[in-house]
Amino acid sequence: MKAEIISIGTELLLGEIPDTNASYLASQLPLLGIDLNWVSQVGDNHARLVEVLRRAWDRSDLIITGGGLGPTEDDITREVVAELLGEEMILDQTLVSEMEQMFLKRGWKMPERNLKQAMVTSSVTSVPNPYGTAPGWWVEKDGRMLVTLPGPPRELHRMWTQEIAPRLRKKSTSILVSRVFKLLTLGEATVDEMASPLLSSTNPTIGVYAKFDGIHLRLAAKAANEQAALDLMAPFEQQLRDIFGTNIWGTDDDTLESAVGGMLTEKGLSLATMESCTGGLLASTITDAPGSSAYFKGGLVTYATQSKIDSGVDPAVIEKHGVISAETALAMATAARDRFGADIGIGVTGVAGPDGLDGKDAGTVHIGIDYQGSKKNVFINLPPRRIEVKRRAVLLALAELRKLLIA
Ligand code: AMP
Ligand code: MG
Repeated sequence: MKAEIISIGTELLLGEIPDTNASYLASQLPLLGIDLNWVSQVGDNHARLVEVLRRAWDRSDLIITGGGLGPTEDDITREVVAELLGEEMILDQTLVSEMEQMFLKRGWKMPERNLKQAMVTSSVTSVPNPYGTAPGWWVEKDGRMLVTLPGPPRELHRMWTQEIAPRLRKKSTSILVSRVFKLLTLGEATVDEMASPLLSSTNPTIGVYAKFDGIHLRLAAKAANEQAALDLMAPFEQQLRDIFGTNIWGTDDDTLESAVGGMLTEKGLSLATMESCTGGLLASTITDAPGSSAYFKGGLVTYATQSKIDSGVDPAVIEKHGVISAETALAMATAARDRFGADIGIGVTGVAGPDGLDGKDAGTVHIGIDYQGSKKNVFINLPPRRIEVKRRAVLLALAELRKLLIA
Protein backbone atom coordinates (compact mmCIF):
# COMPACT_ATOMS: atom_id res chain seq x y z
CA MET A 1 0.00 0.00 0.00
CA LYS A 2 1.47 3.34 -1.09
CA ALA A 3 0.73 6.17 1.30
CA GLU A 4 1.09 9.93 1.13
CA ILE A 5 0.87 12.52 3.90
CA ILE A 6 -0.31 16.07 3.33
CA SER A 7 0.17 18.56 6.17
CA ILE A 8 -2.04 21.59 5.76
CA GLY A 9 -1.40 24.98 7.33
CA THR A 10 0.24 28.23 6.33
CA GLU A 11 2.06 28.32 9.69
CA LEU A 12 4.07 25.28 8.52
CA LEU A 13 5.29 27.08 5.41
CA LEU A 14 6.21 30.14 7.46
CA GLY A 15 8.40 27.93 9.65
CA GLU A 16 6.37 28.87 12.72
CA ILE A 17 5.75 25.28 13.78
CA PRO A 18 7.63 22.11 12.82
CA ASP A 19 5.62 19.43 11.07
CA THR A 20 5.57 17.02 13.98
CA ASN A 21 2.32 15.46 12.77
CA ALA A 22 3.98 14.21 9.58
CA SER A 23 6.97 12.87 11.55
CA TYR A 24 4.65 11.09 13.91
CA LEU A 25 2.58 9.53 11.12
CA ALA A 26 5.76 8.59 9.24
CA SER A 27 6.94 6.69 12.31
CA GLN A 28 3.61 4.86 12.63
CA LEU A 29 3.01 3.71 9.05
CA PRO A 30 5.85 1.13 8.90
CA LEU A 31 4.29 -0.62 11.88
CA LEU A 32 1.30 -1.31 9.67
CA GLY A 33 3.47 -2.44 6.75
CA ILE A 34 2.42 0.64 4.77
CA ASP A 35 5.03 2.30 2.58
CA LEU A 36 5.14 6.07 2.81
CA ASN A 37 6.16 7.51 -0.56
CA TRP A 38 5.46 11.23 -0.26
CA VAL A 39 5.06 13.95 2.34
CA SER A 40 3.88 17.42 1.34
CA GLN A 41 3.18 20.64 3.17
CA VAL A 42 0.72 23.12 1.77
CA GLY A 43 -0.69 26.40 3.02
CA ASP A 44 -4.33 27.22 3.70
CA ASN A 45 -4.87 28.01 0.05
CA HIS A 46 -7.74 26.55 -1.94
CA ALA A 47 -6.11 26.23 -5.38
CA ARG A 48 -2.84 24.79 -4.10
CA LEU A 49 -4.58 22.32 -1.80
CA VAL A 50 -6.73 21.11 -4.72
CA GLU A 51 -3.56 20.64 -6.77
CA VAL A 52 -1.72 18.69 -4.07
CA LEU A 53 -4.75 16.52 -3.32
CA ARG A 54 -5.38 15.73 -7.03
CA ARG A 55 -1.81 14.62 -7.51
CA ALA A 56 -1.99 12.48 -4.37
CA TRP A 57 -5.27 10.93 -5.49
CA ASP A 58 -3.65 9.94 -8.80
CA ARG A 59 -0.57 8.30 -7.37
CA SER A 60 -1.33 6.98 -3.87
CA ASP A 61 -3.52 4.28 -2.35
CA LEU A 62 -3.82 6.04 0.98
CA ILE A 63 -3.84 9.80 1.55
CA ILE A 64 -3.63 11.18 5.07
CA THR A 65 -4.20 14.88 5.61
CA GLY A 66 -3.49 16.73 8.85
CA GLY A 67 -4.88 20.15 9.76
CA GLY A 68 -7.44 22.53 8.34
CA LEU A 69 -10.43 20.97 10.10
CA GLY A 70 -11.03 23.90 12.44
CA PRO A 71 -14.10 26.12 12.47
CA THR A 72 -12.41 29.20 11.05
CA GLU A 73 -12.50 30.64 7.54
CA ASP A 74 -8.98 29.43 6.69
CA ASP A 75 -9.77 25.79 7.54
CA ILE A 76 -10.72 24.43 4.14
CA THR A 77 -9.73 20.76 4.13
CA ARG A 78 -13.32 19.49 4.12
CA GLU A 79 -14.55 21.57 1.24
CA VAL A 80 -11.49 20.84 -0.89
CA VAL A 81 -11.75 17.09 -0.29
CA ALA A 82 -15.45 17.25 -1.17
CA GLU A 83 -14.52 19.02 -4.38
CA LEU A 84 -11.90 16.35 -5.15
CA LEU A 85 -14.47 13.61 -4.57
CA GLY A 86 -17.01 15.51 -6.67
CA GLU A 87 -19.52 15.20 -3.84
CA GLU A 88 -21.81 17.66 -2.17
CA MET A 89 -21.34 18.63 1.49
CA ILE A 90 -24.30 17.97 3.71
CA LEU A 91 -24.91 18.68 7.36
CA ASP A 92 -24.85 15.54 9.50
CA GLN A 93 -27.56 16.12 12.12
CA THR A 94 -26.14 13.48 14.48
CA LEU A 95 -22.80 15.28 14.47
CA VAL A 96 -24.54 18.61 15.03
CA SER A 97 -26.30 17.39 18.15
CA GLU A 98 -23.14 15.70 19.43
CA MET A 99 -21.27 18.95 19.02
CA GLU A 100 -24.04 20.93 20.68
CA GLN A 101 -23.89 18.53 23.63
CA MET A 102 -20.13 19.01 23.87
CA PHE A 103 -20.51 22.79 24.05
CA LEU A 104 -23.41 22.51 26.48
CA LYS A 105 -21.29 20.43 28.86
CA ARG A 106 -18.88 23.36 29.09
CA GLY A 107 -21.79 25.74 29.54
CA TRP A 108 -21.47 27.37 26.13
CA LYS A 109 -23.79 27.77 23.20
CA MET A 110 -22.31 26.37 20.01
CA PRO A 111 -21.24 29.16 17.65
CA GLU A 112 -22.75 29.04 14.16
CA ARG A 113 -19.26 28.73 12.68
CA ASN A 114 -18.71 25.28 14.20
CA LEU A 115 -21.48 23.89 12.01
CA LYS A 116 -19.00 23.40 9.18
CA GLN A 117 -17.25 20.80 11.29
CA ALA A 118 -20.40 18.69 11.16
CA MET A 119 -20.38 18.51 7.34
CA VAL A 120 -19.88 15.22 5.50
CA THR A 121 -20.28 13.89 1.95
CA SER A 122 -21.80 10.64 0.69
CA SER A 123 -18.60 8.57 0.85
CA VAL A 124 -17.47 9.96 4.19
CA THR A 125 -17.55 8.01 7.43
CA SER A 126 -17.15 10.44 10.28
CA VAL A 127 -14.40 9.63 12.81
CA PRO A 128 -14.96 10.65 16.44
CA ASN A 129 -12.66 13.15 18.14
CA PRO A 130 -13.35 13.29 21.89
CA TYR A 131 -10.44 15.72 22.43
CA GLY A 132 -11.80 18.41 20.13
CA THR A 133 -14.73 19.59 18.08
CA ALA A 134 -13.40 18.51 14.68
CA PRO A 135 -14.36 14.95 13.69
CA GLY A 136 -12.13 13.33 11.09
CA TRP A 137 -13.18 11.86 7.77
CA TRP A 138 -12.60 8.31 6.57
CA VAL A 139 -13.20 8.01 2.84
CA GLU A 140 -13.07 4.95 0.61
CA LYS A 141 -13.73 5.52 -3.05
CA ASP A 142 -12.54 4.11 -6.39
CA GLY A 143 -10.00 1.82 -4.69
CA ARG A 144 -8.47 4.74 -2.79
CA MET A 145 -8.52 5.65 0.88
CA LEU A 146 -8.38 9.16 2.26
CA VAL A 147 -8.24 10.16 5.90
CA THR A 148 -8.50 13.68 7.26
CA LEU A 149 -7.06 14.25 10.73
CA PRO A 150 -7.24 17.32 12.99
CA GLY A 151 -4.08 19.46 13.31
CA PRO A 152 -3.58 19.63 17.09
CA PRO A 153 -1.11 16.80 17.80
CA ARG A 154 -3.01 15.48 20.83
CA GLU A 155 -6.17 15.08 18.76
CA LEU A 156 -4.30 13.65 15.79
CA HIS A 157 -2.43 11.08 17.91
CA ARG A 158 -5.59 9.87 19.58
CA MET A 159 -7.54 9.63 16.37
CA TRP A 160 -4.67 7.75 14.76
CA THR A 161 -4.10 5.19 17.50
CA GLN A 162 -7.75 4.66 18.48
CA GLU A 163 -9.58 4.97 15.19
CA ILE A 164 -7.45 4.96 12.07
CA ALA A 165 -4.59 2.52 12.77
CA PRO A 166 -6.98 -0.32 13.78
CA ARG A 167 -8.94 0.14 10.54
CA LEU A 168 -5.80 0.19 8.43
CA ARG A 169 -4.39 -2.84 10.20
CA LYS A 170 -7.35 -4.82 8.90
CA LYS A 171 -6.59 -3.71 5.33
CA SER A 172 -2.85 -4.20 5.38
CA THR A 173 -1.40 -7.54 4.30
CA SER A 174 1.90 -7.19 6.13
CA ILE A 175 3.45 -5.56 9.17
CA LEU A 176 6.91 -4.36 10.04
CA VAL A 177 8.26 -5.32 13.42
CA SER A 178 11.46 -3.73 14.65
CA ARG A 179 13.72 -3.97 17.62
CA VAL A 180 16.51 -1.64 18.65
CA PHE A 181 19.70 -2.83 20.35
CA LYS A 182 21.63 -0.13 22.16
CA LEU A 183 25.41 -0.17 22.44
CA LEU A 184 27.93 1.97 24.24
CA THR A 185 31.68 2.49 24.20
CA LEU A 186 32.02 1.30 20.60
CA GLY A 187 32.19 3.75 17.69
CA GLU A 188 29.75 3.74 14.78
CA ALA A 189 32.35 2.46 12.31
CA THR A 190 33.45 -0.34 14.65
CA VAL A 191 29.86 -1.45 15.17
CA ASP A 192 29.27 -1.36 11.43
CA GLU A 193 32.37 -3.46 10.81
CA MET A 194 31.50 -6.00 13.48
CA ALA A 195 27.93 -6.33 12.20
CA SER A 196 28.98 -6.42 8.53
CA PRO A 197 28.27 -10.14 7.92
CA LEU A 198 24.62 -9.38 8.74
CA LEU A 199 24.18 -6.04 7.03
CA SER A 200 23.45 -7.39 3.55
CA SER A 201 20.27 -9.12 4.71
CA THR A 202 17.13 -7.66 3.14
CA ASN A 203 14.54 -9.21 5.47
CA PRO A 204 15.18 -8.61 8.26
CA THR A 205 17.22 -5.50 7.64
CA ILE A 206 19.82 -4.20 10.05
CA GLY A 207 20.65 -0.50 10.30
CA VAL A 208 23.37 1.21 12.33
CA TYR A 209 22.59 4.66 13.75
CA ALA A 210 24.68 6.98 15.91
CA LYS A 211 22.42 8.39 18.61
CA PHE A 212 23.01 10.54 21.63
CA ASP A 213 23.08 7.57 24.00
CA GLY A 214 25.46 5.50 21.87
CA ILE A 215 25.05 3.38 18.77
CA HIS A 216 21.69 1.86 17.94
CA LEU A 217 21.30 -1.26 15.84
CA ARG A 218 17.83 -1.56 14.39
CA LEU A 219 16.63 -4.99 13.36
CA ALA A 220 13.41 -4.89 11.32
CA ALA A 221 11.41 -7.62 9.62
CA LYS A 222 8.41 -7.48 7.35
CA ALA A 223 5.97 -10.38 7.42
CA ALA A 224 2.32 -11.32 7.28
CA ASN A 225 1.93 -11.13 11.04
CA GLU A 226 3.88 -10.31 14.16
CA GLN A 227 4.86 -13.87 15.00
CA ALA A 228 6.21 -14.51 11.51
CA ALA A 229 8.27 -11.30 11.73
CA LEU A 230 9.63 -12.30 15.15
CA ASP A 231 10.56 -15.72 13.77
CA LEU A 232 12.52 -14.05 10.99
CA MET A 233 14.32 -11.85 13.50
CA ALA A 234 15.19 -14.44 16.15
CA PRO A 235 18.34 -15.94 14.52
CA PHE A 236 19.62 -12.45 13.72
CA GLU A 237 19.09 -11.27 17.27
CA GLN A 238 21.07 -14.27 18.49
CA GLN A 239 23.93 -13.44 16.12
CA LEU A 240 23.94 -9.78 17.23
CA ARG A 241 24.10 -10.88 20.84
CA ASP A 242 26.94 -13.28 20.03
CA ILE A 243 28.88 -10.52 18.27
CA PHE A 244 28.32 -7.68 20.73
CA GLY A 245 27.78 -9.48 24.04
CA THR A 246 27.68 -7.12 27.01
CA ASN A 247 28.25 -4.10 24.79
CA ILE A 248 24.50 -4.25 24.28
CA TRP A 249 23.19 -2.48 27.35
CA GLY A 250 19.53 -2.35 26.43
CA THR A 251 16.80 -2.65 23.84
CA ASP A 252 13.96 -0.50 22.50
CA ASP A 253 12.81 2.02 25.13
CA ASP A 254 15.43 1.06 27.72
CA THR A 255 17.41 3.95 29.17
CA LEU A 256 20.92 3.72 30.54
CA GLU A 257 19.77 4.96 33.95
CA SER A 258 17.15 2.22 34.20
CA ALA A 259 19.64 -0.42 32.98
CA VAL A 260 22.12 0.68 35.66
CA GLY A 261 19.31 0.95 38.21
CA GLY A 262 18.28 -2.63 37.46
CA MET A 263 21.83 -3.87 38.07
CA LEU A 264 22.14 -1.93 41.33
CA THR A 265 18.84 -3.38 42.53
CA GLU A 266 19.88 -6.87 41.56
CA LYS A 267 23.16 -6.57 43.47
CA GLY A 268 21.57 -4.73 46.39
CA LEU A 269 23.96 -1.78 46.06
CA SER A 270 23.32 1.87 46.83
CA LEU A 271 24.61 4.97 45.10
CA ALA A 272 25.45 8.60 45.91
CA THR A 273 26.85 11.45 43.81
CA MET A 274 28.79 14.68 44.07
CA GLU A 275 28.80 16.86 40.97
CA SER A 276 30.32 20.09 39.81
CA CYS A 277 30.16 20.64 36.09
CA THR A 278 26.96 18.64 35.57
CA GLY A 279 25.03 20.79 38.07
CA GLY A 280 22.88 17.95 39.37
CA LEU A 281 22.09 16.45 35.98
CA LEU A 282 23.64 13.14 37.01
CA ALA A 283 21.41 12.89 40.08
CA SER A 284 18.45 14.04 38.02
CA THR A 285 19.11 11.42 35.35
CA ILE A 286 19.60 8.64 37.88
CA THR A 287 16.22 9.54 39.39
CA ASP A 288 14.53 9.45 35.97
CA ALA A 289 14.44 5.69 36.48
CA PRO A 290 11.31 4.59 38.33
CA GLY A 291 12.13 2.99 41.67
CA SER A 292 15.48 4.81 41.93
CA SER A 293 14.74 5.98 45.47
CA ALA A 294 15.44 2.39 46.57
CA TYR A 295 19.14 2.62 45.63
CA PHE A 296 19.95 6.30 45.15
CA LYS A 297 20.84 7.72 48.53
CA GLY A 298 21.45 11.30 47.53
CA GLY A 299 23.55 13.77 45.63
CA LEU A 300 25.38 17.01 46.25
CA VAL A 301 26.08 19.81 43.83
CA THR A 302 29.28 21.62 44.78
CA TYR A 303 30.64 24.41 42.66
CA ALA A 304 32.87 26.42 44.99
CA THR A 305 36.03 24.87 46.38
CA GLN A 306 34.91 25.61 49.93
CA SER A 307 31.60 23.80 49.43
CA LYS A 308 33.51 20.75 48.20
CA ILE A 309 35.58 20.89 51.36
CA ASP A 310 32.46 21.39 53.50
CA SER A 311 31.02 18.31 51.84
CA GLY A 312 33.94 16.20 52.95
CA VAL A 313 36.49 16.46 50.16
CA ASP A 314 40.03 16.50 51.56
CA PRO A 315 41.33 20.09 51.07
CA ALA A 316 44.85 18.73 50.62
CA VAL A 317 43.75 16.86 47.48
CA ILE A 318 42.28 20.00 45.93
CA GLU A 319 45.31 22.02 47.00
CA LYS A 320 47.73 19.55 45.42
CA HIS A 321 45.91 18.54 42.22
CA GLY A 322 43.49 21.36 41.50
CA VAL A 323 39.69 21.42 41.43
CA ILE A 324 39.49 19.88 37.98
CA SER A 325 41.52 16.74 38.30
CA ALA A 326 41.22 12.98 38.48
CA GLU A 327 42.18 13.06 42.15
CA THR A 328 39.50 15.60 43.07
CA ALA A 329 36.86 13.62 41.13
CA LEU A 330 37.80 10.54 43.14
CA ALA A 331 37.87 12.47 46.41
CA MET A 332 34.37 13.74 45.58
CA ALA A 333 33.21 10.17 44.88
CA THR A 334 34.57 9.00 48.22
CA ALA A 335 33.09 11.99 50.07
CA ALA A 336 29.66 11.33 48.50
CA ARG A 337 29.90 7.70 49.51
CA ASP A 338 30.87 8.57 53.08
CA ARG A 339 28.33 11.35 53.44
CA PHE A 340 25.39 9.20 52.39
CA GLY A 341 26.67 5.84 53.60
CA ALA A 342 26.37 4.41 50.09
CA ASP A 343 28.17 1.45 48.53
CA ILE A 344 29.14 3.47 45.48
CA GLY A 345 30.02 7.14 45.07
CA ILE A 346 30.40 9.02 41.81
CA GLY A 347 32.22 12.34 41.56
CA VAL A 348 32.14 14.60 38.51
CA THR A 349 34.29 17.66 38.03
CA GLY A 350 35.07 19.48 34.82
CA VAL A 351 34.74 22.56 32.66
CA ALA A 352 31.43 22.75 30.82
CA GLY A 353 32.62 25.71 28.76
CA PRO A 354 32.60 27.61 26.55
CA ASP A 355 35.66 29.09 28.31
CA GLY A 356 38.46 27.23 30.04
CA LEU A 357 38.80 27.32 33.82
CA ASP A 358 41.60 26.88 36.31
CA GLY A 359 44.09 26.28 33.51
CA LYS A 360 41.95 23.49 32.03
CA ASP A 361 40.35 23.51 28.58
CA ALA A 362 36.60 23.75 28.17
CA GLY A 363 35.15 20.28 27.71
CA THR A 364 37.57 18.63 30.17
CA VAL A 365 35.69 16.24 32.45
CA HIS A 366 36.94 13.92 35.17
CA ILE A 367 34.75 11.22 36.61
CA GLY A 368 35.67 9.27 39.70
CA ILE A 369 33.90 6.18 40.98
CA ASP A 370 34.46 4.75 44.43
CA TYR A 371 32.98 1.26 44.44
CA GLN A 372 33.17 -0.06 47.99
CA GLY A 373 36.65 1.41 48.34
CA SER A 374 37.96 0.28 44.96
CA LYS A 375 38.51 3.35 42.82
CA LYS A 376 38.26 4.07 39.16
CA ASN A 377 38.84 7.21 37.20
CA VAL A 378 37.97 8.30 33.67
CA PHE A 379 38.84 11.42 31.79
CA ILE A 380 37.28 12.79 28.65
CA ASN A 381 37.71 15.85 26.50
CA LEU A 382 34.44 16.88 24.88
CA PRO A 383 33.55 19.56 22.35
CA PRO A 384 33.05 22.64 24.57
CA ARG A 385 29.31 23.11 24.20
CA ARG A 386 27.99 23.56 27.68
CA ILE A 387 24.74 21.58 27.61
CA GLU A 388 26.30 18.81 25.57
CA VAL A 389 29.28 18.51 27.91
CA LYS A 390 26.87 18.08 30.81
CA ARG A 391 24.78 15.45 29.03
CA ARG A 392 27.74 13.48 27.69
CA ALA A 393 29.48 13.55 31.08
CA VAL A 394 26.37 12.06 32.68
CA LEU A 395 26.19 9.37 30.02
CA LEU A 396 29.85 8.53 30.49
CA ALA A 397 29.48 8.33 34.27
CA LEU A 398 26.58 5.90 33.92
CA ALA A 399 28.38 3.87 31.25
CA GLU A 400 31.47 3.54 33.47
CA LEU A 401 29.36 2.55 36.42
CA ARG A 402 27.68 -0.08 34.27
CA LYS A 403 31.07 -1.52 33.29
CA LEU A 404 32.02 -1.88 36.94
CA LEU A 405 28.72 -3.53 37.74
CA ILE A 406 29.13 -6.09 34.94
CA ALA A 407 32.68 -6.99 35.86
P1 AMP B 1 -5.76 23.40 12.24
O1 AMP B 1 -6.59 22.18 12.39
O2 AMP B 1 -5.10 23.49 10.91
O3 AMP B 1 -6.47 24.65 12.61
O4 AMP B 1 -4.56 23.24 13.26
C1 AMP B 1 -4.73 23.49 14.62
C2 AMP B 1 -3.40 23.54 15.34
O5 AMP B 1 -2.75 22.27 15.23
C3 AMP B 1 -2.37 24.50 14.78
O6 AMP B 1 -2.47 25.77 15.30
C4 AMP B 1 -1.07 23.87 15.19
O7 AMP B 1 -0.71 24.28 16.47
C5 AMP B 1 -1.36 22.41 15.17
N1 AMP B 1 -0.87 21.80 13.96
C6 AMP B 1 -1.43 21.87 12.73
N2 AMP B 1 -0.73 21.18 11.82
C7 AMP B 1 0.34 20.66 12.48
C8 AMP B 1 1.44 19.83 12.09
N3 AMP B 1 1.57 19.41 10.84
N4 AMP B 1 2.33 19.47 13.03
C9 AMP B 1 2.18 19.92 14.31
N5 AMP B 1 1.17 20.68 14.73
C10 AMP B 1 0.24 21.05 13.85
MG1 MG C 1 -4.73 25.51 10.25
